Amino acid sequence: MADTLRVCALYPDLMNIYADRGNMLMLERRCGWRGLGFTLTAAGLGDVIDPDAHDLFYLGGGQDRDQQLCAHDLYDNKREALHAAAARGAIVLGICGGIQLLGDHYELGDERVPGIGLVDLVTKRAVDGSRLTGNVAIELELEGLDGPRVLAGFENHGGRTVLGAGEQPLGRVLKGHGNDGRSGVEGVHRGSVIGTYLHGPLLPKNAWFADWLLATALRRAPGDLALLDDALEDAAHASARRAAGV
Ligand code: GLN
Repeated sequence: MADTLRVCALYPDLMNIYADRGNMLMLERRCGWRGLGFTLTAAGLGDVIDPDAHDLFYLGGGQDRDQQLCAHDLYDNKREALHAAAARGAIVLGICGGIQLLGDHYELGDERVPGIGLVDLVTKRAVDGSRLTGNVAIELELEGLDGPRVLAGFENHGGRTVLGAGEQPLGRVLKGHGNDGRSGVEGVHRGSVIGTYLHGPLLPKNAWFADWLLATALRRAPGDLALLDDALEDAAHASARRAAGV
């Protein structure tokens, strides 16, 4: 059982809108408070990544322009390593622009921005440029947890994502738009690959999910993690749920 969480943040300077860096901080603190080690490695444009050197790969959200820049680098320089990492059970977490790049492609007008095909989904920018924005809550079930849980966050995306047949969403939309504003589903979940549109940042608003990721990445049962005093985290979660109306 590993006792150091090794995180690789992909393009932290370009894919980081809505305070996505808070997600890294959340993982670092929750490891530290439990006496677990934490390492954070940044991988930017042109960098090559080692699929065996990290337990969790993180790809945050981005503006279309930054996302285009990263997409080609991700495809050319990191795609194979991320496939290898996911195949050995490392977590690959994509948020917003991140989930779009985990799929097949992102259609932006006449351009087809390549994804790395870790999951079967496609995203299309709405022709009229309208965005799906607002507070959102989804219900989901995850291995090792007893019963359904709620994730609360904020979404702001011009892309509409459609899952391929047989691909599973991360959860069911309780409030908000979700993947495309119509399907009633949000995100994607295949094995250790997870994508979601929830910003917020996601993890500080959902400490239980941060712990689930942390435990799963360390190959531990979520219930094996030491309990923490989560009064503030619970309040943040309740506030995010209230904002979404759940
Ligand atoms: N650029 C993408 C879109 O608008 C993702 C935005 C984001 O990461 N918030 O759909």
